[in-house]
Amino acid sequence: MRFLKFVLIALIILRIPTVFSQLNQQIQVDVVYLASEELEGRATGTKGESLAASYIVSRMKSLGLKPGNDGGWYQSFKIPANPHMVNSAELTGKNVIGYLDRKAKSSIIIGAHYDHLGHGVVGSLAPNDHNTHNGADDNASGVAAMLWIAEKLTQQKKLEHNIIFIAFSGEEYGLFGSKAYIENPTIPKENISAMINMDMVGRLNAENVIAISGVGTSSKWNNVLQEIKPADFTFNNSESGLGPSDHSSFYLKEIPVLHFFTGQHKDYHKPSDDSYLVNYEGIEKVANIIYDIVVKIDPIKKIDFIKTKDQSKEMATDFKVTLGVMPDYVYNGNGMRIDAVLEGRAAMKAGMKDGDIIIHLAGEDIKDIHDYMKVLSENKKGDKVKAKVLRDGKEVELDVEF
Ligand SMILES: [Zn+2]
Repeated sequence: MRFLKFVLIALIILRIPTVFSQLNQQIQVDVVYLASEELEGRATGTKGESLAASYIVSRMKSLGLKPGNDGGWYQSFKIPANPHMVNSAELTGKNVIGYLDRKAKSSIIIGAHYDHLGHGVVGSLAPNDHNTHNGADDNASGVAAMLWIAEKLTQQKKLEHNIIFIAFSGEEYGLFGSKAYIENPTIPKENISAMINMDMVGRLNAENVIAISGVGTSSKWNNVLQEIKPADFTFNNSESGLGPSDHSSFYLKEIPVLHFFTGQHKDYHKPSDDSYLVNYEGIEKVANIIYDIVVKIDPIKKIDFIKTKDQSKEMATDFKVTLGVMPDYVYNGNGMRIDAVLEGRAAMKAGMKDGDIIIHLAGEDIKDIHDYMKVLSENKKGDKVKAKVLRDGKEVELDVEF
């Protein structure tokens, strides 16, 4: 399997010069290295994390960034031992911080976590598979995008903001790196104008749909996004500043945030999240969009902060049941498309399959993911309901027991 992977990577690299630009090749080099077996899944506190961190430092140096933490590249932090796990010990992780100094008072932060799940166990969706969880999409893709944005921004000599680039660690254990940063920021917190986060930007689909959250955290975002949106892209915007990635840590300290995500997939948090499945051109496109956003917001004197309705928390506390599927967050059509049906759960028992589109559930029409969430919040465990899904264009009726 490893050999096969090597051959695939070699094939992809060999055909690049004829297809992609030079810089796109750099994006691929970054992802392939960060997601390689040598880094053993970049778990916080391991040798793989250190190797990844040194690599990111060397890349930042070569781009001409300065060390961002008082002359140093790293900011270390502790993750306490987990009392619910055997053999759990305190871990030390490190953020990598690069600084583009434009002698401005305020700064914009661009971030992406670089840690992943190592050989699985904590956070894995394939907990019995101890092969390396390579985390190519999650989140070597975000780091590569961040470095590409850094490369473009270093060529912008006139900026009204400094830019701080942070590769966070400790994300997979619970956003520890970003929390540590905002507790001990490298510049006064009031001087952080906005934070832009990327987590899983490596699977841009053929329809060019990007999920962007945090759009409600400033009155500026909607206009900016409309102005820079390429005609062939669809932005799936959501208001909330809270979500399962590092932007949440900044939002909670009242900093306007935007978070970019190209969608869920069946390899999420599994050893199969590999670099040969990544859409490199897609990473470049997403990164270019974020670059355009930074250039657009740079002259704005004050990017106001707005507290948003906490959607994800509401959803989590309202759920009495789950179906055991991974929704397709970037699906735009009618219904709720299932990216992946999870092993042994209600949906699988009911006979649902990856790619099914739920259009009817428990007596309700399902037009989108919000209708689906609403139905989940209204049912309880043991309820038996009917579901209707679209499979290869045909309607299929199924019996579901929550
Ligand atoms: Zn992630």
